[in-house]
Amino acid sequence: MERVGAGTIRTTCPYCGVGCGVLMEPDGKGGARVKGDPEHPANYGRLCSKGSALAETLGLQGRLLSPQVDGQDTDWDSALDLVASRFARTVAEHGPDSVAFYVSGQLLTEDYYVANKLMKGFIGSANIDTNSRLCMASTVAGHKRAFGTDTVPGTFEDLEEADLIVLVGSNLAWCHPVLYQRILAARKKRGPRLVVIDPRRTASCDGADLHLPVKPGSDVALFNRLFVEIYEGGALDQAFLSHTTGFDATLAAAYADDVTQTGLDEATIRAFCGLWLGTEKVVTIFSQGVNQSSSGSDKVNAILNCHLATGRIGKPGCGPFSVTGQPNAMGGREVGGLANMLACHLDLEDAAHRAAVRDFWQAPVIADQAGLKAVDMFRAVGDGRIRALWIIHTNPAVSMPDADRVRAAIAGCDFVVVSDITGATDTARLADVLLPAAAWAEKEGTVTNSDRIISRQRAVLPIPGQARPDWDILAEVGRRMGWGAAFDYANAAEIFREYAALSGIAGGFGRDFDISGLKDLSDSGYAALQPTRWPVTDGRAGGRFFADGRFFTPDGKGRMLPVSWKPPAAKTGKRYPYRLNTGRIRDQWHTMTRTALSPRLSAHLAEPFVEIHPADALQLGVRPADLVALDSPAGQAILRARITDTVQPGELFAPMHWTGENAPSARIDALVSPVTDPVSGQPESKAAVVAARRFAAG
Ligand code: SF4
Repeated sequence: MERVGAGTIRTTCPYCGVGCGVLMEPDGKGGARVKGDPEHPANYGRLCSKGSALAETLGLQGRLLSPQVDGQDTDWDSALDLVASRFARTVAEHGPDSVAFYVSGQLLTEDYYVANKLMKGFIGSANIDTNSRLCMASTVAGHKRAFGTDTVPGTFEDLEEADLIVLVGSNLAWCHPVLYQRILAARKKRGPRLVVIDPRRTASCDGADLHLPVKPGSDVALFNRLFVEIYEGGALDQAFLSHTTGFDATLAAAYADDVTQTGLDEATIRAFCGLWLGTEKVVTIFSQGVNQSSSGSDKVNAILNCHLATGRIGKPGCGPFSVTGQPNAMGGREVGGLANMLACHLDLEDAAHRAAVRDFWQAPVIADQAGLKAVDMFRAVGDGRIRALWIIHTNPAVSMPDADRVRAAIAGCDFVVVSDITGATDTARLADVLLPAAAWAEKEGTVTNSDRIISRQRAVLPIPGQARPDWDILAEVGRRMGWGAAFDYANAAEIFREYAALSGIAGGFGRDFDISGLKDLSDSGYAALQPTRWPVTDGRAGGRFFADGRFFTPDGKGRMLPVSWKPPAAKTGKRYPYRLNTGRIRDQWHTMTRTALSPRLSAHLAEPFVEIHPADALQLGVRPADLVALDSPAGQAILRARITDTVQPGELFAPMHWTGENAPSARIDALVSPVTDPVSGQPESKAAVVAARRFAAG
């Protein structure tokens, strides 16, 4: 445990992918004082409203403090024996693909690593997927198609060095506030331009030089037009093009695309393209508005194509930059926490990669084909193909698309285990076995932020009741399933060393993710580990990628990909005339398990709502604060109306945080159909179709 001053502990914020450093000073009574860590390279002392309120969320209200079986408290041995024996029996009777883990970007890297090892190397299935599938899987797919690996090329410092920052489908001001603060500070100092591409006029548009209110899902058409302008405007980087493939086909697809699908006027499109072409240092930041789409991977590649064509990648102030929603979505990607990946960016489809991982783990088996991605996993739960399911630190009965059917599927599953800090989520209430897990401020481990910086999370408070760290619970089950030696970890540091050593093997295969320089870290070295950007090898410390024109594809070249605009999967029409966008608000986090504990955070926007354009409200006879019923092909919700021209006519926006527990009629994901991007498996959470009607007066 590293102390920076008497009684102060250096750790990392557990909310978004900015990964801000936090200084915590425990008060000895179960609470702590919180402030931003002035030395952490993600935030340099800044915290947003959620980070500043962390101390208000440390209490034990609602905590699960004992294992439970069928709603009754029990001891750990009984609970763990039951979990191990039911998983072993299910695998023996129905095969390894009859079981699944559904995990979370809230897990620490060490927890994730053990879960992935247990499922892929010992149970022998790749049925482990994560709620990060809902967050950034399209970026992973886009990166792999263009670069050969899932590599974020740049660094947060690029935001301060850029002369033009483009936000695509990203309300950074609310969802990654400290990054937005860094951009505002840079704008004050140096004056880089800011462009926002988003169907809504969000808080990120305040003071922006240009806002492009594109039609939902039309980003590919816009970036294809930009690609054409780059070509015609003489902005190609001919030297860099020799390090890429696919230019001619990409240009042909770009010419064939139809920019009118964006709904933007020509002057706005020209203004955007003019800024891009006229500025050498451009960073394009993108997040859920790009990723959560049935063409999310194509959107990512449309953006990457423009950066590859101009060589604006991996250089100071240049590059495409995906920002992750969750604190450790990136760490999960690194350990293979997705159903279609091995650990350390090795490929499940590659026999040599599989053999190397199996040998390293001394595993009896290794999964040899991709497992079920989140949406398909819950379909398989519903139709009985998955018979034993372990859900860790996430609430799919609320947060998955088609949430009503997901809830019914979990309720009908033969055997459901939930590990969490509380037994009061909609999902936990459906569990046969509840396992009490340590909370954020009680855990030791690491997380990786969107900037590839590995930071330590350190225990600030003692673990209450019988709760345990997640890696410990998973390892116990592995041992009880008969694999004692492979899961005999003494602490999180031991897991980290094993993981760092495995990454050296990945480095030997020419993979990007290599932190083998940390494999011999002592326990005290791990305790004192400073924020460190990967890769970390003996000869290299983490910097930018690709400026040298070397990629991780078989031929070493970056790939441009021809992509074309496709409309969202669900069509609006007479029955469902409105397009519903879902997303976050500034002061809540996911399904509010933690943030709802803070009165200050709950005061920002106190109840669920739907934003409606004034013209639509007039047509529907809806007045401010009326209740509005939304119906979609998947389900129904009832929400308070907020009438605002920040949304376009025909489009609605509703936040996704409220749950069956605190607002039974506001489970927004019950309205979202389980349509996914065919490449990434990421659901289209921002383009549902709904009917709207006035339900009651406000
Ligand atoms: Fe935490 Fe993200 Fe806010 Fe930083 S920006 S304090 S990581 S929620």
